[in-house]
Amino acid sequence: MAEFTSKRSVRVLSELSAALWLVNTKAIKHIDYSLIDGSRTTNQQVARYAQGRTAPGRIVTFVDGINDLSRHQVTPEDPLTHAFDFIPAPFTYWEDQPVFTAYAHFIIGIGYEHGIELRWGGDWDQDFRWRDQKFNDYPHIEEVIQSKFTLNDSGKVPV
Ligand SMILES: [Zn+2]
Repeated sequence: MAEFTSKRSVRVLSELSAALWLVNTKAIKHIDYSLIDGSRTTNQQVARYAQGRTAPGRIVTFVDGINDLSRHQVTPEDPLTHAFDFIPAPFTYWEDQPVFTAYAHFIIGIGYEHGIELRWGGDWDQDFRWRDQKFNDYPHIEEVIQSKFTLNDSGKVPV
């Protein structure tokens, strides 16, 4: 793979902060995966929180979108998202921890190369140990702090 080709991946890529855009456009040159979720409105996050609680389905988040904001949430002031969800290609299954671990840490490593600290939903406390996790969100990667990267006028990230 050299770039994202699916419609969904390309859409999610366009929703990402400059830092996450940079990391993903670098990573896709080496490993094949899809971007499945990017920005969310507050209403979308509230609906996700309801899933498995007051609405059908399994619990997919512990962030209610009101008192506690997801890094996926965007606002008019900050319209690009600071989190994304991915799946390896070919996709195996949601709980395939070894494969998600390999992908996540490859992507995290690219972030470090560019001064971008990333946190993975399979290792929230970033200690490279997974047995201390209370909640696994293997597709999820987020910026730990909002990075200083910005898009320039041509839509490219200064590297
Ligand atoms: Zn996520």
